[in-house]
Amino acid sequence: MVEDLKKYFRTPRGIVKAVDGITFSMDLGETLALVGESGSGKTTTAHVIMGFYTPTEGLVTYKGIDIGIPVEKRPLWLKREIQIVFQDPATSLNPKNTVKDILDAALRVHASGTKLERLNKMLELMNYLGLPEEHLFKRPTELGGGEKQLVALARALAVDPDFIILDEPTSALDVSAQSKVLKTLSRIQRDRRVSYLLITHDLGVVRNISNRVIVMYLGKICEESETDELFSKPLHPYTQMLLSSVPAMTKEDEKVLPVRIESRGEIPSAINPPPGCRFHTRCPFAMEICRREEPPACNAGASSHVVRCWLYSSRTRV
Ligand code: SF4
Repeated sequence: MVEDLKKYFRTPRGIVKAVDGITFSMDLGETLALVGESGSGKTTTAHVIMGFYTPTEGLVTYKGIDIGIPVEKRPLWLKREIQIVFQDPATSLNPKNTVKDILDAALRVHASGTKLERLNKMLELMNYLGLPEEHLFKRPTELGGGEKQLVALARALAVDPDFIILDEPTSALDVSAQSKVLKTLSRIQRDRRVSYLLITHDLGVVRNISNRVIVMYLGKICEESETDELFSKPLHPYTQMLLSSVPAMTKEDEKVLPVRIESRGEIPSAINPPPGCRFHTRCPFAMEICRREEPPACNAGASSHVVRCWLYSSRTRV
């Protein structure tokens, strides 16, 4: 659970408001996607949950416990339960170590059994993820991109986590490796009931594996919904702009966005974000009130569909 989370960074040019008051929670076994352009605050949010940064304000809780503490101060059980898989396995896996060294190091940190038990666990994981056992004795540089990402997943799974943050897990992969990794992620979730927090700008990946979506812009949440509802009824102009950049694949897609919104301008600086609605400098529908006042959160149809935009302010406020 993330409650009114703020994460600011002091820089020589001023204070960067990377995340500025966001709230959301997750259910067991679900995949929640955080989407938005770079600078939206999605990666900072994930890194606060991991303990790489501590909150400036607000709460981050896990199983009812406040976890807004640096990763090095977290108890071992918490480090084990929350894992992360990074975007580029070429940099997240040490190229000097073999796959066996990499997996064994993760198991040893968490005191997972004797040498033989750890080896058996590694073999079991390689088989489960469809990686040849002989890859255990290879270095990451000898593997393909998709295989490297599966090794990164094996490292995360080695300690039986309940919650995995997937930070752009397929953006460094070619199409066929992407498809294999996505299918594997779905299978892991079915088999082990882990929860995923998916950080991505790739809406194709979001549609493929997530149950719910949160759209972020300049440190704020602008829309949140079940995935199918968001793709069939995107309401916030920023969500519509993001979806407009994805080519329509079917007649249904064309009906959803009869008028496509061109991406306009750059995301403004988070040091001095625009007042009112942060998207007003790029929004084709901006009104006077948008430049002055922050839009309230309103229900938009389904109770779980919430949008923050003055165009919908006559709907029930939440
Ligand atoms: Fe556009 Fe106004 Fe809605 Fe912001 S609140 S997205 S500026 S219409």
